[in-house]
Amino acid sequence: MKTVLITGAASGIGKACAERMSREGYCVAAADLNLEGAEAVAEELTASGGRAIAVRMDVSSEQEVEAGFDRMMEEFGACDLVMSNAGVQIVHPYESYPFEDWRKMMAIHADGAFLVSRAAYRRMKESGKGGRIVFTGSVQSFVGSKLKEPYNFAKHGVAGLAKAIAREGAEYGIYTYTICPSYIKTPLVEKQIPEQARDLGISEEEVVRNIMLRDTVDGVFTTVEDVANTLVFLANDQGALTGQSIRLTHGWAMM
Ligand code: NAD
Repeated sequence: MKTVLITGAASGIGKACAERMSREGYCVAAADLNLEGAEAVAEELTASGGRAIAVRMDVSSEQEVEAGFDRMMEEFGACDLVMSNAGVQIVHPYESYPFEDWRKMMAIHADGAFLVSRAAYRRMKESGKGGRIVFTGSVQSFVGSKLKEPYNFAKHGVAGLAKAIAREGAEYGIYTYTICPSYIKTPLVEKQIPEQARDLGISEEEVVRNIMLRDTVDGVFTTVEDVANTLVFLANDQGALTGQSIRLTHGWAMM
């Protein structure tokens, strides 16, 4: 059986991907800062006949990341696929963006992407079998948005990190990808709607229509299923797509 470790698996995109990969026959390590949430996901997967464990992992902690991967190796004995997905959003007008919040964003998005992908890389190289590392980027890996400078900085960085690892990892059969969705209605986005309305002085409907969906070609949200479908597709890629960013943006940020 193949294995997958997903960070941020207690909610939103990570949870949907954990459920889908379990249905695809993967052993799932559901990793999250929110251990209770990860346990609920693992229990649900086990109850539906899958193999799953919950792992408490703060992706900004080197010790917790390494311990979480060790736990997965003990339990499943392999590290075939890893999704570095955990993330948060903190929006503020740029001139008053607190340095503390910038640091928090970097710790989760930049340090987290590094620590999780390095932990995966080490184990995939050591196994001699390689593997696939998938980052959750964003449409914000390609465009800029008001109030989101640190998020833009980090999500652009993640796409670059995937390209560099793709070069170094190729000889070991390690492939990397960045899945870049536009807005998906998950708790992370539900929280932003009132915050952006407050900071920009507009209504919540205007945030959805004039900001979140304005640059799509059809005014439609991306979905967690779109991401899960892409993950399944990439899990079967034999290297043709390594290093690439896959844009799930309803026409916003086309190549
Ligand atoms: P979500 O809030 O539903 O889930 C995020 C999960 O990450 C939560 O379970 C949370 O507990 C976990 N988490 C937060 N900090 C953590 C940490 N330090 N260590 C481990 N886990 C931590 O959000 P989501 O929308 O599913 O977002 C998942 C990823 O997708 C993020 O990287 C986000 O930036 C990205 N993304 C989201 C959207 C969107 O529109 N929802 C679009 C593009 C990209």
